[in-house]
Amino acid sequence: MLLGNPPVEYGTTFMANELDYTSMSAPRYSGIPTFMRTPLIRDPSKLDIALVGVPFDAGSENRPGQRHGPREIRNMSSMTRSVHHVTKINPYELCRIADMGDVPFPQAFDLERSHADITRFYDTIREARVAPLSAGGDHSISLPILRAIAVEEPVGMVHIDAHTDTCDEELGSRFTHGTPFRRAVEEGLLDPKRVVQIGIRGAQNSEEGWAFSLDSGMRVIYMEEFSQLGVEGVIAELRCRTGNGPTYVSFDVDSLDPAFAPGTGTPEIGGMTTIEAQRLLRGLRGLHLIGGDVVEVSPPFDLSGNTALVGATMMYEILCVLAEAVAQRKQIATRET
Ligand code: MN
Ligand code: MN
Repeated sequence: MLLGNPPVEYGTTFMANELDYTSMSAPRYSGIPTFMRTPLIRDPSKLDIALVGVPFDAGSENRPGQRHGPREIRNMSSMTRSVHHVTKINPYELCRIADMGDVPFPQAFDLERSHADITRFYDTIREARVAPLSAGGDHSISLPILRAIAVEEPVGMVHIDAHTDTCDEELGSRFTHGTPFRRAVEEGLLDPKRVVQIGIRGAQNSEEGWAFSLDSGMRVIYMEEFSQLGVEGVIAELRCRTGNGPTYVSFDVDSLDPAFAPGTGTPEIGGMTTIEAQRLLRGLRGLHLIGGDVVEVSPPFDLSGNTALVGATMMYEILCVLAEAVAQRKQIATRET
């Protein structure tokens, strides 16, 4: 008697990747939860794409709890399956993908040393030439990730968020979830001309964050312009900005309307619907994607668990376009050697 799907369905994936994908055919409520039911593999040299948890929220100013994000996203990610219903991409056939576990935080009370711990973890991923896809964590984690993966040249970024996260400081700290992308520009990690911020809205006490984004040359698409352009128009605009250069994707769940994603630190009404965000992410097909993150899922504020499901699903959407990009580069590299 077969339990769940017949294993043969994933046989080719198993052969191609030399990884154990039998978990895909096991009952989804069973076993130890990993991202997307992939195997737990700590050695990045065996991978093309590493799924990483970053359970850290000391950069969160008001409502924390994002440290619990990776565990809940892992749990809800057992709902995702292999083949994308629109693009028909099966990321697991294109790339070797596994859960690399969580970044360890031996000095969790010290924000800047913890950021250094994050960078150290992603250094090993970059050295193995692996693309990371991470689950936060508050948005401050994107800066130490970029410090590891943007060492060769400044990268472009598609940043989906209600907030520009380009403030100079909050409560006297320069390293919070409201400041990562200002620091990233100052440190030469981001090429602001190739950065697009999408979904911006909500009152601020000062205009300095918005002003920095515009003055540095980023393209800022407020929610009102998003509605006017429509998803296809926004995709055309972002592709024109990012071009063919290496591009990171950073997805803050507060970009979504809190009707869809209430479990987050800084909810702002008047946001994107889930289907708009999914279509937007599918519009990244063909870009030179080097990694991404989904941040700001805060399970203590997520009473229904739906925000973690939304976070897991957006992670899967990014995984599909990232896997296609990584596989294309691998193919070109093989042809050249
Ligand atoms: Mn953010
Ligand atoms: Mn935000």
